[in-house]
Amino acid sequence: MTNCASITMQPKILGMLGSGQLGRMSALAAYRLGIEVVGLAPDSDSPLAQVCPSVIQADYLDFGALDQLIQRCDVITLEFENIPYEALAYLGRSGKLRPGAELVGLTQDRLSEKQAIERAGLRPAPYRQVDSATGLARALQDLGGQGILKTRRLGYDGKGQQRVSTADNLEAVWRGFDQPCLLEGLVEFLWEGSVIVARRPGGVELQAFPLVENRHENHILSETLAPAPKAGVALAQEAERQARVLAESLGLEGLLGIEFFITSEGLVVNEMAPRPHNSGHWSQAGASVDQFEQHVRAVMDLPLGHPSVVCPTRMVNLLGAAATEQNHWLSHDGAQLHLYGKRSAKEGRKMGHVNILTPEGFAGL
Ligand code: AMP
Repeated sequence: MTNCASITMQPKILGMLGSGQLGRMSALAAYRLGIEVVGLAPDSDSPLAQVCPSVIQADYLDFGALDQLIQRCDVITLEFENIPYEALAYLGRSGKLRPGAELVGLTQDRLSEKQAIERAGLRPAPYRQVDSATGLARALQDLGGQGILKTRRLGYDGKGQQRVSTADNLEAVWRGFDQPCLLEGLVEFLWEGSVIVARRPGGVELQAFPLVENRHENHILSETLAPAPKAGVALAQEAERQARVLAESLGLEGLLGIEFFITSEGLVVNEMAPRPHNSGHWSQAGASVDQFEQHVRAVMDLPLGHPSVVCPTRMVNLLGAAATEQNHWLSHDGAQLHLYGKRSAKEGRKMGHVNILTPEGFAGL
């Protein structure tokens, strides 16, 4: 008779800061791998809390709650980069936070983000620091008379930014900002794309997803075509190379989404996010490993998947009321619907997405 002595399986526990859809989909991927998740976020009934039995409802600066997270978890990650730096630094001292506090902190400020891009030898959009109306006038002069004024902190999906030119009333524009900003020169891009890269602690392994094309409406991602139909082999390889260089230069532990402007003179890095990225959702249907599982594997220091395209895929974001079109998508062959369980559908709010398998490619799109 074979020896049936049982082996005790001790599940690993992953802490998740933030409770939105990226946390929800990362948690679902973690559970698939037998990893338990403990969330920490201030809100209740969140997309994460609906799928995760253990969410500590607390402010990010509640140090008792942070201690609980440290005690309960093997590794702590995040799905949202704007966690107060003090909380990140505190968690970082436990040695369990991935990506590290320094890297995440750097992406919270557009200035330090651009400086990191430059340190890695890559090209950000031209920029000037702006801290006053006269500074704005000077920056506009330097950058050709027009640009996009952006708050250094807490801007996303077009929030905290405004197109400006020397013809505007700059005193009035500045009164609407009145905080540390950057003016970015207008980049004349041909199209926009992104690459998501995963790196294990110590750089033991690094894997990149292929370059995808991103289309925006009102500064919000509306759809992604993967792999990017407009990219030749050389451009796709160069984007991947730059993503790898950035991940190495930052000592990434986890996942990094890098957005590019594709111009006639090459690639310009727009911005980066140290977490799963909306432009990677297509991988749930179209790639050999999806970005959420890759996120979990990277932070848990598990072997990474080798992302390859299984089927060209179009990802469409369901923003605001578009989430009510679920029956349309459910009756669409080859469409995979994801809804995030959010209770109110404000205009422009990311409510869900659809991954549409497109084996015939993207001609006409
Ligand atoms: P962001 O939130 O900074 O990524 O900006 C959202 C979108 O606004 C980008 O995806 C672009 O479509 C556009 N945008 C932002 N910055 C620039 C720029 N410097 N030049 C041209 N377009 C920009």
